[in-house]
Amino acid sequence: MNEVSATRPTLLLSIDYEDWHQLVRRRVGASNWDEPGPGLTRQTDALLTLLDELHARATFFVLGMAARAHPELLDRIVAAGHEIGCHGDAHLPVHTQTPDEFATDLRAARATIEQLTGRTPVGYRAPAFSITKDSDWAYGVLADEGFAYDASQHDSPALRDRAQASTTAPHRLEVGRDGGLWEFPVAVWHTDRIGGMRIPVGGASYWQVLPTPAILKGLTEAGPLAGLYLHPNEFDPVPLRAHLPDTATPKQRAHATLREAQRNGARRRAPGVLKAIARKFELIPYGEAHERLDGSA
Ligand SMILES: [Zn+2]
Repeated sequence: MNEVSATRPTLLLSIDYEDWHQLVRRRVGASNWDEPGPGLTRQTDALLTLLDELHARATFFVLGMAARAHPELLDRIVAAGHEIGCHGDAHLPVHTQTPDEFATDLRAARATIEQLTGRTPVGYRAPAFSITKDSDWAYGVLADEGFAYDASQHDSPALRDRAQASTTAPHRLEVGRDGGLWEFPVAVWHTDRIGGMRIPVGGASYWQVLPTPAILKGLTEAGPLAGLYLHPNEFDPVPLRAHLPDTATPKQRAHATLREAQRNGARRRAPGVLKAIARKFELIPYGEAHERLDGSA
C-alpha cells in the first residue's frame, strides 16, 4: 500500500477559477461575453466531487469577474476546505497594464472575493502567466498590496519574454517596500535526455499531448513543491460549446470552434491524469506550502 504512504512527494494543486464562456466569447468579440456562462456551475460540481474523492485540497485562484457572475459558487469551494487565492479581476495580460492599473485590478478582485467569502486572498496567479521580463515590477506591486505569495512563474518555452525563474524550487523574491514575496513556480520538466528540453508538465494543455507515465516522471523530476494549474472547464462532463449569440459572424464562429476543439482535448484527459497523479503524489494548496516554508524561513 505504498501508494498511500506518508512518503509520497508533494505537489501544489491549483485551479484558475474562471468562466470559460466569458473568456472565449470576449476573445472572439461576441456581444454577450460578460453574461454568466452556462457551464461553471456544472464544472464546479464535477471538480469539487473529484477533489473530494481524491482527498485533495487545492488553491482556487478566483477571477473577480467570474465570481461576480456566479456569486453563489465561492461558498461551496470554501465549505469544501479549499484555499481561495486571486487570479485578478478582468483577465487582462499583466504586461499590457501599468503598475497603477495592475494594482486597481488586484483591488477589484480582492474586494469581490472578500465580499463573497469574508476571506482575504494572500496568493496570486497572473492570467496566462503574463508577468514578463518587462513587467516584473508586478512582483513589487503584489508585495505592496499585501500578497504573501505569487504562483505565476512558468518556465514554458511557449511563453514569450517570460520572467525567468532563478530556480524551479519555491523561493523568496526581495521586492516591495517590506517583507518580499514567496514565488511558487509551475512544474516544468527539465530533461537532459532530449537535448536539454523544458517540458511543461503542470497543466492539462500539455497533458493532452503527453502519455501519463511521462507526465508522472516529469512531475517527479520537476523539483520540490512544483505547481499544477487546472481550470474548471477541464472537468466539464459535457463537451464545451461557446454558445455564441445569433448575431455572431462566420469568422467569430470559426474562431470559437477552434477554441472549443483545443479545450475539449484538454477536457478529455484532465480528470484521468489528475487521478493518476493523486495516486502518486500528495496534493496540497499553495497556502499550506507557504505556511510550512515561511515558518521555517
Ligand atoms: Zn486564467
